[in-house]
Amino acid sequence: MKTLGLIGGLSWFSTSVYYRTINQLMSERLGSSHSVKLLLYSVDFNDFKTLQEKDDWQQIEIMMTDIAQRLEHAGAECIVMCTNTPHLVADKVQQKIKVPLLHIAEVTAKEIVKQKINKVALLGTKFTMEHSFFKERLLKNGIEPIIPDAQDRDIIHASIFNELTKGIFSNETKNKYLNIIEKLHKEGAQGVIFGCTEISLLIKQADCKLKVFDTTEIHSRSAVDFALSD
Ligand code: GLU
Repeated sequence: MKTLGLIGGLSWFSTSVYYRTINQLMSERLGSSHSVKLLLYSVDFNDFKTLQEKDDWQQIEIMMTDIAQRLEHAGAECIVMCTNTPHLVADKVQQKIKVPLLHIAEVTAKEIVKQKINKVALLGTKFTMEHSFFKERLLKNGIEPIIPDAQDRDIIHASIFNELTKGIFSNETKNKYLNIIEKLHKEGAQGVIFGCTEISLLIKQADCKLKVFDTTEIHSRSAVDFALSD
């Protein structure tokens, strides 16, 4: 089994889901006494939130690269950034390390292709919905992303930073998301990407008419596949 290197704390609520999911999947694959070999570097979310607010992606790139290199030197055989938004700098981080960085958008796109769906709604922070780092990976795989309108993007973005990353999950916010998803369904979305790792703590597949692509689950599964690969 290979050793994973996780960058967590963005936020710790979803990192704990990664930790549990990766271990559960490993014990399903190898037997109940097995668990994952991993190194976790968990950050102070507030540092990154502040830099994101300032649009200081250069500093985020420096910090992410430093953490990825530390994990690599400590024995990690791949890097898993347990969050979507900082993938904005993932390509630059990948250039500075020798081990692979498992890109969350890449593995999500592959999963959507497997389901033979080609038009999906993308929900996440404004950085994820508006920058190209996630959408370009979908387009490269023949998938057309649909993003919410500006007002709905504001609602989702605000809820992520004011509620979900603080561990606040309310029915009111869940209903707002479900209304937005329904609008995107009417615009032709055949599935919806939970492109923020905390959204699946708010909404489950059972709440949703559309097929859900939960990046936390898909990314965790790809990490286990990597750990068990030759
Ligand atoms: N975990 C979130 C994501 O998947 C947002 C937190 C952050 O901005 O890093 O994008």
